[in-house]
Amino acid sequence: MLLPRFDVLVPETIDDACAMLADYADDGVRILAGGTDLLVDLRRPIIPQHVPRCDGCPTHPEGQIATTIECEPSKSDPLMSPEGSIRTKLADPKSAAPAFLVSLHKIDQLKGIELLPSGGLRIGALTTISEIERSSEIRKDWTALAHGADSLGSPLVRNRGTLGGNIANARPAADTVIPTIALGGKLTLQSSSDTRTVAAGDFPTGPGLSVLKPGEIVTDIHLPTPSPHSGSAYYKMANRKALEISTVGVAVWMVLEKPGGPIKDVRVALGAVGPTPILAKSVGKVLIGKVPTDEILVQAAKAAAGDARPIDDHRGSAWYRVQMVEQLTLRLLKSVLSGIENDR
Ligand SMILES: Cc1cc2nc3c(=O)[nH]c(=O)nc-3n(C[C@H](O)[C@H](O)[C@H](O)COP(=O)(O)OP(=O)(O)OC[C@H]3O[C@@H](n4cnc5c(N)ncnc54)[C@H](O)[C@@H]3O)c2cc1C
Repeated sequence: MLLPRFDVLVPETIDDACAMLADYADDGVRILAGGTDLLVDLRRPIIPQHVPRCDGCPTHPEGQIATTIECEPSKSDPLMSPEGSIRTKLADPKSAAPAFLVSLHKIDQLKGIELLPSGGLRIGALTTISEIERSSEIRKDWTALAHGADSLGSPLVRNRGTLGGNIANARPAADTVIPTIALGGKLTLQSSSDTRTVAAGDFPTGPGLSVLKPGEIVTDIHLPTPSPHSGSAYYKMANRKALEISTVGVAVWMVLEKPGGPIKDVRVALGAVGPTPILAKSVGKVLIGKVPTDEILVQAAKAAAGDARPIDDHRGSAWYRVQMVEQLTLRLLKSVLSGIENDR
């Protein structure tokens, strides 16, 4: 993989990381967690005119093709020509070719899964998808998130990729984000001047876009204490079982007043059927306060399908995705209900 030239900064505290993001903002700086999205974003197309080429430097006096980091940038990298001819045409050069990456890997405050004395769960943003997959607490009480982790990428990707990275990348199909929204997750965002909390559902604003401001880090994800008689699940439908982005993803969280119903609260989140993950608000209007019968669950699934806003693409047509939202929502509502009944 050909990458632009950058230096990696390695802070050991969140405060230091925030200070670095502020100090190097003018040079172009990005956050590096597992790198499974970032390095793919930064890679250069491997076509001849983009292969970094050294025309002669102290290390390569005769010149050398396909060098990336040893040479002076002005000589080694055609995108970094003194005129900046190609780079200046990029929409956001500081983002496409940052001078610095702030690597979070040594910040212990960003790691770990912790049951809070006040209730709920705190997951550090640097927690890997594999750690989430292996957590017995998450699998038992925040099951939808464990399902999301199970379905992301492959074992190699899960070992490097982090929850904070999956969230901050803000893709509409992100497999841990859809369950986090259904579970009522909240994110802590910290910068050198401020700390704020944002509901996971309010974080993404478009494909790859979010409310994250320059200089802010996602530090923690908080999931609320599971209520009695509650349960959750996520299902990713994709063209193959691994290394595939979802065609449709659905997460369901539900609480009953008591075994058998009525339904006290419900959240259904949809992935890959809009420019951002979608919280299907119509479902609550159909289900809350009702005893869950087959008929009412079918109505709720139709309501979820009505909230989807998919497009046609190579993974599936908009029509097909709407049908799948309805089928998967119905299937998940039934399976979450039966899980709650079996836990009695
Ligand atoms: C082969 C392959 C398969 C994949 N399959 C899937 C899949 O099935 N489902 C899926 O959802 N994703 C998939 N992904 C995408 C990726 O693995 C995940 O999104 C992963 O969780 C990203 O985490 P990371 O730590 O690697 O993020 P990075 O790549 O390090 O960062 C991603 C982005 O978030 C920013 N960032 C990272 N951490 C923070 C933070 N704490 N605060 C603020 N900004 C931050 C970075 O600056 C960057 O812009 C796949 C990727 C690959 C390469």
